Amino acid sequence: MSKPTPQRIRRLNALLERAYGRAEPCAPYPPLDSLIGTILSQNTNAANSREGYCRLKKRFPRWEQAAAAPVSAIASAIRVSGLSNTKAPRIKAILRHVHAERGRYSLAFLRKMPPVEAAAYLCRLPGVGPKTAACVLLFSCGMPVFPVDTHVLRISKRLGLIHRRKSAEEAHKILGGVVPEDLVYSFHVLLIHHGRVMCRAGRPACERCVLRRSCKYYRDKVRSKKRPGSNT
Ligand code: SF4
Repeated sequence: MSKPTPQRIRRLNALLERAYGRAEPCAPYPPLDSLIGTILSQNTNAANSREGYCRLKKRFPRWEQAAAAPVSAIASAIRVSGLSNTKAPRIKAILRHVHAERGRYSLAFLRKMPPVEAAAYLCRLPGVGPKTAACVLLFSCGMPVFPVDTHVLRISKRLGLIHRRKSAEEAHKILGGVVPEDLVYSFHVLLIHHGRVMCRAGRPACERCVLRRSCKYYRDKVRSKKRPGSNT
């Protein structure tokens, strides 16, 4: 396995950019909205999580309304996003926690904190782990914190950036230390796109992949085909 280095990440990012175009940041949501949206995105696809967020905001246009509502009403609003009986109590607990501690339904103060402290604050909230915290800090606060979701973890292992037995939490630490700050947004977004269209969990389309020359999974596959006795 070749070590992940900032130079290697730059080369991979350049190849992905050439294939898919530049990843341009969108207008950021307020951090609390971004956090609730990221909770809704856990274990579901982008379309269902977006739809759940829209239905939640339609039912409760202001966060104080959701905080005062029964968990069952929140669960019913976000049903389309899946795991609603888990996500609804988390959302309510987060809203109440933030309000009890800060006196308002806002996490805007995170933007003024150093990234490590902001991540630690978020990780103390119910249902918030390193990936969710990193998504909020990257997308809503513009901080160079690299989120490792299921696509990023899978592709990083296949490329040989991290060992295949590493957990998502370990991957956060390793990749967070080597992805250059100016590429955190781009590399994250491009890897997710790559994971959706090319390096899928089941059947990665290696023959068409722009990263195949840098990919451990591909090299191992080619080598195993060349082995004597291999009939493929
Ligand atoms: S070569 Fe295959 S396994 Fe490697 S990144 Fe590309 S699609 Fe994924």
